[in-house]
Amino acid sequence: MKITRYGDPCPLCGTPLLLDVLQVRSAQYDFPTAERVTRRQCPGGCHVNQPEQWKEAIHSRYGDC
Ligand SMILES: [Zn+2]
Repeated sequence: MKITRYGDPCPLCGTPLLLDVLQVRSAQYDFPTAERVTRRQCPGGCHVNQPEQWKEAIHSRYGDC
């Protein structure tokens, strides 16, 4: 199941990031057992306007891009 929610503040402008989160549900329990962020976006457009700084900041904070 995929949801979108707000995450940490943007490393570039401080606006809460929009996260696409993939939730894995167990058949036995009615709550998510694991989740994985598949995409991070800044509502202010930092990932579009400053792609190099964005990539660097996300990589150093989360270890991925
Ligand atoms: Zn931003």
